Amino acid sequence: AGSALGVDIGGTNIKWVHRADAAVVARGTLPTPAAGPAQVAAAIAEIAAARTVEAIGVALPGHLSPDLRSTTTIPNIDGDWQGFPLADMLERATAKPVLLMNDARAFASAELALGAARGHSDVVFMTMGTGIGGAIALGGTVLRGPGDRIGEIGHMTAAPGGDRCGCGARGCLETVAGGRALATAWSRALDSRGTGNQDRSATPEDLVQAARSGDTTARKILDTAATAVSTALGSVLAQLGLSTVVVGGGVAPAFDMMRPAVEPVLRDRWRLIGPVTLLAAALGPYAGAMGAALNATAQPLVVPSAP
Ligand code: BGC
Ligand code: ZN
Repeated sequence: AGSALGVDIGGTNIKWVHRADAAVVARGTLPTPAAGPAQVAAAIAEIAAARTVEAIGVALPGHLSPDLRSTTTIPNIDGDWQGFPLADMLERATAKPVLLMNDARAFASAELALGAARGHSDVVFMTMGTGIGGAIALGGTVLRGPGDRIGEIGHMTAAPGGDRCGCGARGCLETVAGGRALATAWSRALDSRGTGNQDRSATPEDLVQAARSGDTTARKILDTAATAVSTALGSVLAQLGLSTVVVGGGVAPAFDMMRPAVEPVLRDRWRLIGPVTLLAAALGPYAGAMGAALNATAQPLVVPSAP
């Protein structure tokens, strides 16, 4: 199904894979330039210049224009992304066809074709990272919709009137359970104890580690997040009538800690939707980049024959 470069733009890192047919032949990670979209575009062009590929797919942590050629709202990366013509710029710079898509929908299409959701056709996806992403597959297709905006679980209201979200609204799920929110809550807890690290701000991984070793404040932060996540997921499953969920993303270890609290809430939905299957993503941190690479060539969801 051709060769493609798939690039996944994150708040912290850019991840890329070079796909030749169904195989990943090279991959890499570099820090996301902080200076804004033009610098991010230059970084992508530089990666592309070093590879021989037919097409380029770029996954982004936010929304696109209706023609899918420019970015609009990218909640968690600095810089002015509103109306930035990323596809045109990259096509000029690389002379390759460029496809833009949302990072969670890219993740979902990779997990559906090759990962945890393989063999399923109707699935809800959630990615836990700096922000919280989501996607819905129906009949074996990941729904995208105008501007690739379908499935934004992270912006469901979890705390009415709560903290301001990167999207402009208040109390979105990612302001309670997103990686940035978890890290901020843990930093505040450490500062109030006078045990914060001056040189380095806390990470979601620090929080998970503290919760594992029994810290009650850390557990409480994760419990609050688990309540918000289970409420949102339960509502999505009930609304869509679906019962299969795939969870991934860089902060998925935090989800593992929440799982015992999330599962019973989803189980309560059984009269409506039957037993819920909660699956861990299978493709690892490059799933978004793989999804972008899969979709960049003409046949988006080629499933290679089973190994
Ligand atoms: C964005 C989503 C994105 C998610 C994960 C959210 O803030 O709105 O579009 O998929 O973060 O990066
Ligand atoms: Zn929001």
